[in-house]
Amino acid sequence: MNVAILGTGYVGLTTGACLAYLGHRVACVDRDPSKIAALQRGEAPFYEPFLKELMNAASPNLCFTTEYGEAVPGAEVVFIAVGTPPGPNGTPDLKQLQGAARGIAEQLGEGFTVIVNKSTVPVGSGNWVEALVREELKKRHEGIGRTFAVASNPEFLREGSAIHDSLYPNRVVIGAEQRKTLEVLYELYRPLLNQSFREPDFLPRPEKARSVPLISTDLASAEIIKYAANAFLALKISYINEISRLAEKVGANIAHVARGIGLDERIGTGFLQAGIGWGGSCFGKDSLALIATASEYGLDMPIVTAAREVNRRQRERVVEKLLTNLKILKGRTIGLLGLAFKPETDDLREAPAIDLARQLIARGARVIAHDPVAMNRFRREYADLAVSVRETPEDVISNSDAVVLVTEWAQYKEIQWEAVAAAGERKRVVVLDGRQAIDGDRLTRAGYHYLSIVGQNPVTGFEPERDLESPVTVPLESREADCSSRVLWSARSIGAA
Ligand code: NAD
Repeated sequence: MNVAILGTGYVGLTTGACLAYLGHRVACVDRDPSKIAALQRGEAPFYEPFLKELMNAASPNLCFTTEYGEAVPGAEVVFIAVGTPPGPNGTPDLKQLQGAARGIAEQLGEGFTVIVNKSTVPVGSGNWVEALVREELKKRHEGIGRTFAVASNPEFLREGSAIHDSLYPNRVVIGAEQRKTLEVLYELYRPLLNQSFREPDFLPRPEKARSVPLISTDLASAEIIKYAANAFLALKISYINEISRLAEKVGANIAHVARGIGLDERIGTGFLQAGIGWGGSCFGKDSLALIATASEYGLDMPIVTAAREVNRRQRERVVEKLLTNLKILKGRTIGLLGLAFKPETDDLREAPAIDLARQLIARGARVIAHDPVAMNRFRREYADLAVSVRETPEDVISNSDAVVLVTEWAQYKEIQWEAVAAAGERKRVVVLDGRQAIDGDRLTRAGYHYLSIVGQNPVTGFEPERDLESPVTVPLESREADCSSRVLWSARSIGAA
C-alpha cells in the first residue's frame, strides 16, 4: 500500500521504516529540513538501536521529503506522528497536530484515504482532526470527490527497543467508526498481525511473537487506552518507590520485596524497579493530560496525581541523600553518570539528570556528567545549563566529591571502580546508586562511600543462584522476566571481581 507518515521523530520514523520493511511504499514527511536532509543521506536523526539497519533494509520502499504534496496525494493511509508536547494547564499542545491536519486537507488525493492519529492525543482528537480536514476542504472548494476517515492507532513502542516493539508488538489497537477504515488498516498491518514477514537478521523474531492480537474499537476507547496504559505504568513505578521509602525505614531490601510481590502474576514483575523514578517524553506528559481531560469532565484523578507527586519526591530524595552525607553542597563537585532518561536512547526530554543538575546547581554545586550517547545532544539542547560534560565515566568519578548513577547504561557496569580509586587522590568519594545497578559491597571494599537511593545495597542476602554450587534452580522464564534479574547479574559479574 502507499503510506505517508507525517513527523519523523521516534514514532514516525520507526513506524515508517517498519511499514517499508513490511513491503509498503512509505513517504516520510517532516517540516524540519535538516532532519530530512540527514535522512536522505541515510543518517538517523536520533539514536535508536537497529534503526539504521532497518532503514537500510527498507530503503527501496522508503523516501523522505519536506513536502506534503510529494507524499499525501497518492497515499491510501496517512499517519500523523507529530509531537504533542505538554501545553499550559497540562493539556497537550496540539499545534503540530493542527498543522498536520491542515496540510493533509490541502493535499488529499481523490481515492478513499484513512488518516491515522498515531500521536498520543486527548479523547476527541479523532473527531477534531476530521472536523479540521473537512473545514479546510470546504474552504478550498475542493471537497468534491475527496473521501476520508480518521482512525486512532496509538503507539506503545519503548525508546531503546522501538524497532523490536514495532516489529513484534504485544498488541495493535485501532479505533475507527467505520468498517471500511478498519479493513484498510487490517490490510496494512496484516503481515505484522500474522507475523508473516521475514524476520530481519539483526533482530530475530522472539519465540513468543507468533501472532499479534488486534484490538479494534471506537475512537474514544483507543484514545483512552494509550493514556490509561502510560498512567498505569507510571503509577506502578511510583508505587514501588513509595514502598521503598518504608522499606528503607524498616531495613527491608526493596529488590527482594519487588521480586516477592512481582512474581504474583496478578501484579507482574515489570516496572517494579525502585529508583530515581520515571522520566522521558511520555509518562509525565500523558499522566498530566489524563488529569486535565478528566477535569474537563468534572473528575479528579487522585491515584494518577499521587503517582506524579511520588515521582517528584523521588528526585528530591537524591538531593536529600547527598546533603545528608556531604553536609554542604556549595562548591562541591557532583558527577552524574547518565544524562538520557533511560539507557539505549539519546532522548533527554524530562530526563531525571536534567532536573537533578538544576537542583544541584541551584544549591551551589558544580555538576559534571557523562553519557555514552546523549552528550552531543545535551551540548546542543542544554547549552545554557552549567554542566561540564566529560568524555569518560572514569573522568567524572575521579573529579567528583559525589557521583550519582542516574541512567543504568550497560557500559557503567564495566567501570573498574578499584582502578579509578587507586589512581585518584585518597579522598572518599560518595557514590549514590539511583538505579540499583551497582554492587555496593564491592564499592565499599574499594574505598568509596556507597549509598543507594533505596537505602540498602540491593545485592545482599542469600541468593541460591549466586551463593550455591548447585542451586535449586529458579525456572528460567520467571528469572528472565524478573525485575531483579539485573541485580543478580550485577552480583555475579561485578561482585565477583
Ligand atoms: P518527536 O518530537 O520526536 O517527533 C515529532 C516530529 O514531528 C518532529 O521531527 C517534528 O519536526 C515533526 N513535525 C512537527 N509538526 C509537523 C508537521 N506539521 N508536519 C510534519 N512534521 C511535523 O516526537 P515523538 O517522540 O516521535 O512522539 C510523537 C507522538 O507519539 C507524540 O504524541 C508522543 O506522545 C507519541 N508517542 C511517543 C513515544 C516515544 O517513546 N517517543 C511512544 C509512544 C507515543
